[in-house]
Amino acid sequence: MFSQFALHERLLKAVAELKFVEPTPVQVAAIPPALEGRDLRVTAQTGSGKTAAFVLPLLNRLIGEAKPRERIRSLILLPTRELAQQTLKEVERFSQFTFIKSGIVTGGEDFKEQAALLRKLPDVLVSTPGRLIEHLNSGTVDLREVEVLVLDEADRMLDMGFAEDMQRITELCANRQQTLLFSATTGGNALREVANNVLRDPLHLRL
Ligand code: AMP
Repeated sequence: MFSQFALHERLLKAVAELKFVEPTPVQVAAIPPALEGRDLRVTAQTGSGKTAAFVLPLLNRLIGEAKPRERIRSLILLPTRELAQQTLKEVERFSQFTFIKSGIVTGGEDFKEQAALLRKLPDVLVSTPGRLIEHLNSGTVDLREVEVLVLDEADRMLDMGFAEDMQRITELCANRQQTLLFSATTGGNALREVANNVLRDPLHLRL
């Protein structure tokens, strides 16, 4: 049951609305430590329910504070536009009973429209590395207030040549309190190096 997790009632309401009954193994393993604020390194396949495993704790952190929206408080970085769109949909579904606002910035879409979206400071920003770097270079996004950073499909981002971009983006989220790194495979040395660089005392979960 999802009620076993210390999730805000508005999130549990969304979970029920989506007809999720039993949490999947990755959700059982990852949600409690993520809610406690720990950094995680999770190896889990797509289809395992990993998106909810990071989206629910992330939203739970944002929901707790009723301050006016004035900063980008979380960033979910993924390798492709399609994955970003799917993830945004999941964020929107889970946040439907909250005031949390989300936005997406990926390649292949109008840059100026994205700059306008970024000026509105979504609480949750879902993005791909290439386009986010373009916005960073043109000063249209500020990541200094990001509290939670999620690197999803990190192994694939490395395979696609995004190592330097990931590194730079991570460094710019300088004040983050939590980093969650997800990958489909255990990865090689490159992934281990990223994990060592970006995670603080992480819990390593292999599902
Ligand atoms: P993901 O691995 O995050 O891409 O999720 C795969 C699919 O499973 C998505 O369509 C989710 O909405 C769905 N899903 C995730 N967790 C659950 C759950 N606990 N119960 C039912 N469906 C789920």
